[in-house]
Amino acid sequence: MDIRSQFPILNQTVYGKPLVYFDNAATTQKPQCVIDTLCNYYKSLNSNIHRGAHYLASQATEQYEQTRRKVKEFINARHSHEIVFTRGTTESINLVASSFSQRFISKGDEVVVSAMEHHSNIVPWQLACERQGATLRVIPFDDQGILDLDAFAALLNERTRIVAVTNVSNTLGTVNPIAEIIRIAHSREIPVLVDGAQAISHRKVDVQQLGCDFYCFSGHKMYGPMGVGVMYGREELLEQMPPYQGGGEMIKDVTFERTTYNELPFKFEAGTPAVGDVLGLGTAIDFISQIGIGTIAATEKELTDYATGQLQQIEGLRIYGTAPDKTSVISFLIGNAHPYDVGTLLDKLGIAVRTGHHCTQPIMDRYGIPGTVRASFAVYNTRDEVDTICAAIRRIAPMLQ
Ligand code: PMP
Repeated sequence: MDIRSQFPILNQTVYGKPLVYFDNAATTQKPQCVIDTLCNYYKSLNSNIHRGAHYLASQATEQYEQTRRKVKEFINARHSHEIVFTRGTTESINLVASSFSQRFISKGDEVVVSAMEHHSNIVPWQLACERQGATLRVIPFDDQGILDLDAFAALLNERTRIVAVTNVSNTLGTVNPIAEIIRIAHSREIPVLVDGAQAISHRKVDVQQLGCDFYCFSGHKMYGPMGVGVMYGREELLEQMPPYQGGGEMIKDVTFERTTYNELPFKFEAGTPAVGDVLGLGTAIDFISQIGIGTIAATEKELTDYATGQLQQIEGLRIYGTAPDKTSVISFLIGNAHPYDVGTLLDKLGIAVRTGHHCTQPIMDRYGIPGTVRASFAVYNTRDEVDTICAAIRRIAPMLQ
C-alpha cells in the first residue's frame, strides 16, 4: 500500500492550498493504523492496568507489557525491564537527570552536554547541577555543525559523572558520532545518555551495539501518539537509581515508617500510564518495521539531497547545518528576512515549516542569528512538495526585502 495514503491528515487543503507538511521534526503525522489502535483501545479495551482482577484489565495489561517487549526488540535492549514508559523525551531526560544525579553526582562534579542540545537535554542537567553543586561543561561544534571530538575528550576528567548528547540535532540535522563519543566516555568509565528524539524514526538504533547507558525518545516523532515516550536505561544503573516520582505502582510496600520500591521497570512508572498511547506506539513501531528503517532512511536521504540542491539554487538562501551525515532536516535563512516572516508567508501558501530557535538557543547564539526556518521531511513527503516550497520561496522572496 502507498505510504502517503495511510496518513489521512495529509489529504487536505489549508487556505485553499494542498497541505505541504514539512514540520516533521516537531512531530510526525499518524498513519491510520495508529489512529485505529487508539480508537479501538478506547472502544473495547480501556481499563487500568496491573492488579486488575477482571478481563479488560488483564487484556490491557498484557498488551501494554507486550508493547514493552516490542520496544525492547526495536532498540535491541537486553531486557524488557530496561524499557520505562514516560510521557516523552523531555520526561525521560528529566527522570535520568533527577534520579541519576541524586545517586551519582555531588558537589564539585561535572556533567558534559553539547552546544547543539535541545533545551530538554540542557535544562534538566542545569537543574541537577544546581541541586548537587556540580558544573555543566559544553562540547563545541564548528560552522558546519560538527562536534569537536578533541575538545570533547579534553573536557573529560575524574570529576565527569555523565555525558548527555543528542544522536541527531533537531536544528542542524547533524548525525553525531555517538558510538565514538560513547567509546571515549566509557574508556574513562563515564556513562552516556543519548537523546534519540530525532534519530529513532530515521536510523537503526541498537542500544547494545552502541553501548549507551540511557537512550531517550518520544512516540510522537516516530508516527506514534503524543504523550508517550521511552527511557531506556542499563539495568545495572537503573537498579542503583532512586525513584523519580512517588505514587501507585512504583511501590512494593507502604507504611508510614518505611516504603519499599517495586522492581524494574515499575519503580520508575508511578501512577496510571497512557495505556492507549503506549499501544499506539507499538503500532507505530510495526508501521516503521513494515516499511523498514533502511528504506525510510534511504527515501528521506534522497529527498533531502534533492531539496538541498534545489534550495541552494535560490539566491540569498543560506543553509545552517551542512555536516556530511545528516537526517532530513534543513534549516535556512533568506537574505535578511526574519524567519518568522518567511514562515508566515509560506503558511499562507499551505506550507507548514517551523521557525525560531527550535528550543536550541545556544545554536542560534553560536551562529549569531535569531532563529531559522526549518523544513523537515518524513517518509511520506515528495519531490513535488519540495518543488512547491522552492517555488513559494522564490515567490515570497521579493516581499521580504
Ligand atoms: N530532544 C530533541 C533533539 C528534540 O528534537 C525534541 C523535540 N523537539 C526533544 C528533545 C523533546 O521532545 P518532547 O517534546 O517530545 O519531549
